[in-house]
Amino acid sequence: MSKLLEYNATLVAREDLEPTLSVFRLRPDSIERHESGPWFEPGQYVTIGMNRAVVEGVEDPRPLSVRRPMSISSPPEDRDEFEFYIRRVGEPESDLPLTHLMWPIAVGDRMYCRAVPTGHFTVEHTVGLEDRRLKLCVAAGTGLAPFVSIARSRVRRDPKARLDDLAIVHGASHATGLGYRAELEELARTNGLRYIPAVSRPTADWTGWRGRAESICEVARREEAEDALGLSRGELRPDRVAVLICGLNGTIANTVTGLLDRGFVPENRKLRRVFEIEDERPSTVFWEQYDNTPVIDVKDAELVAGLRRTLHTALGK
Ligand SMILES: Cc1cc2nc3c(=O)[nH]c(=O)nc-3n(C[C@H](O)[C@H](O)[C@H](O)COP(=O)(O)OP(=O)(O)OC[C@H]3O[C@@H](n4cnc5c(N)ncnc54)[C@H](O)[C@@H]3O)c2cc1C
Repeated sequence: MSKLLEYNATLVAREDLEPTLSVFRLRPDSIERHESGPWFEPGQYVTIGMNRAVVEGVEDPRPLSVRRPMSISSPPEDRDEFEFYIRRVGEPESDLPLTHLMWPIAVGDRMYCRAVPTGHFTVEHTVGLEDRRLKLCVAAGTGLAPFVSIARSRVRRDPKARLDDLAIVHGASHATGLGYRAELEELARTNGLRYIPAVSRPTADWTGWRGRAESICEVARREEAEDALGLSRGELRPDRVAVLICGLNGTIANTVTGLLDRGFVPENRKLRRVFEIEDERPSTVFWEQYDNTPVIDVKDAELVAGLRRTLHTALGK
């Protein structure tokens, strides 16, 4: 049975983009700061939480509180607040979904935040800070958050920073679900960010990329994708591009499998093992997963054998 959480943060801003999609800004009461340097790395997350209402005399078997990890979309240069990009889940798995408790809250309301940023889905801990390849960031829905933090931080540190090495492909069902679109379009204009908004259920007037975010890595759309990304034909390959993915298992699985024919190696111990990748070969596809469903069922021998064959052919093995 979970305990009541002691609230230690205030909601200072909220923007609703769709009925079930919002940007929340949270100000923790106190933050452990480093005197110099960033207080978190863009791409990291914190844990936030809420208590449910307790009605005296009414038996309720549910836990008293719930905590969930949330990626930070603000840059570390915002010293006092965290911003989050959150979807209210339609079909929760738990008895006490955090997003359902959060939906009625308004500016000034209190909640819990463990203000200790965590996680390795950062440029430093994936491709490395010195990597000069194009970072292809594939995001479905709220999976955009870490990439917004990464792009924002670079321009906050240097407004003239070039972002030509960053491509963000953001997928949503409808254009209204393309959070941060105006800001990312502006970064494309002013700083060279390669921004590709993708809509899977477009209206007739949508002129951008059609399909889910991961369709940018579909074999059948390779040339169209390379054009959209500003790459030459054949250039979507691991010596020119490293791939970062964020979201639910479907987006990750489709991106990972779509890129095997070009020799992209997933950064995942189990997958590297079943794909028989030698230790010296560096990974070129990294991800942050928001749910628990395995990205690829490694017990499915036939599936794994087919994927391994594709990857080995690409690697000339
Ligand atoms: C490292 C990390 C960072 C995360 N960052 C974010 C974030 O920035 N924004 C965010 O909205 N969620 C994020 N999540 C997911 C978040 O932690 C919760 O799982 C989610 O908010 C649902 O929690 P819940 O208690 O409301 O629902 P639960 O009862 O826990 O329901 C879980 C169900 O919700 C689905 N689900 C989980 N996340 C999403 C989502 N983002 N969109 C649609 N369906 C989802 C899962 O598939 C699962 O079936 C992150 C998860 C991890 C592990």
